[in-house]
Amino acid sequence: MMTTYLPQYALATVPRYTSYPPATQFHSGVGESVYRDWLGAIGLQDTLSLYVHIPFCQTLCWYCGCHTSVPNSNERVLNYVETLKLEIARVGACVSSSAKVVQVHFGGGTPNFLPPKILAAIIETLMEQFNFDPGAEISVEADPRSLSKEHISTLAGYARVRVSLGVQDVSPDVQKLINRIQPFEEVQGVVEQLRAAGVEGINMDLMYGLPGQSVAHVRKSASMCAALEPDRFAVFGYAHVPWFKKHQRAIDESRLAGGQERLDQAEAARATLIGFGYAPIGIDHFAKPGDSLFKAHSEGRLRRNFQGYTVDPASALIGFGASSIGSFQAGYIQNEPHLGKYRDALKSGGLPVARGVVVSQSERRARAVIERLMCNYEVDLQQVADEENCEISVFLPAISNLEPLCSDGIVEVELPVVRATPKGRPYIRNIAACFDEHYGESEQRYSRVV
Ligand code: SF4
Repeated sequence: MMTTYLPQYALATVPRYTSYPPATQFHSGVGESVYRDWLGAIGLQDTLSLYVHIPFCQTLCWYCGCHTSVPNSNERVLNYVETLKLEIARVGACVSSSAKVVQVHFGGGTPNFLPPKILAAIIETLMEQFNFDPGAEISVEADPRSLSKEHISTLAGYARVRVSLGVQDVSPDVQKLINRIQPFEEVQGVVEQLRAAGVEGINMDLMYGLPGQSVAHVRKSASMCAALEPDRFAVFGYAHVPWFKKHQRAIDESRLAGGQERLDQAEAARATLIGFGYAPIGIDHFAKPGDSLFKAHSEGRLRRNFQGYTVDPASALIGFGASSIGSFQAGYIQNEPHLGKYRDALKSGGLPVARGVVVSQSERRARAVIERLMCNYEVDLQQVADEENCEISVFLPAISNLEPLCSDGIVEVELPVVRATPKGRPYIRNIAACFDEHYGESEQRYSRVV
């Protein structure tokens, strides 16, 4: 299937809807006392997912959109780890029930920037403070350039481990333009070592829209990586926001692809991975048939959270570390991103909350609709209305927002079902935005759809 380039949708800036309301709606009026209430309300029947943010990298890739830095001393890193452990203990003390932890995710930055023993000590601290399900999965984002044999053997010591390797593009000419030199042999070697150590899950991240990248580059990267047979891929479009991420100013804008070319590159990645037997999952993930993400997708259990698409069934996500975000039925909470302020809040006996948002009733309904659209490309509004105890008529304003998109053939409304057409699938974020009561308030702060 060839995708149709529709500039009015492709060039629109729309949230990625990894949460609803999106993080642009968070504010400082939601703070520590609200967070303590939410933690205290976690019940025995709840399941937990834990996210740990490691905001350090060895070098800065110029395309990076993450909250990270290159630390100027080892002491800075060790201080951060001590503060992180303090936070884990303090938050753990606020959760009175022994709700089971089913998923732990280390993100960054580069979690394997930390020496293996320190990474293991953080995992042990989590295990001391929380009640881990024996089947809990520990997933770690890793930079293949610094993933040592010791890291691999340490991680392989846990029951269920998944490692996500950042690859982006395999060609040296593109790598030079993004300040990330990473020979393909290094990635290949790491995959072999992970398999030999018995690591259960291997993911790879690729990108399109990078400076100097062409359809041929994307195809080559997808083919060479798919030949290594990871279980899953995520393929993200580069978001150029130099006013927000200052290091992106090092990127030569004249080498960036335009809208149609970006769509062609996304399509090339998609077609290549499908050709290698991967199934597309949502807007940017691919999985081997048999992988748990594929099964969750086939069975309608796919979820979307800050890490993208997930099988994580947890009812609450607790974030640890600077800038991390927690997600609860009642709302979202974000930690202080500034490392000094993060440390000071914990050293003075508090929790390092910077901002958050309480989800209103109408936002909760929209959250349910948007998550289903983003995961399944369709939603049964009657089902959501029944679950949320409301009339389907509450969606009438959103349905009228969909009218121009129906005329353009990207969505079909056959009430109670709203469904993206095959032509509309790349524009599912635009469709979801019709249910977003905040959309348009601050659209320039989001990334482009394609
Ligand atoms: S390794 Fe990852 S987190 Fe670190 S700078 Fe590069 S892209 Fe950003």
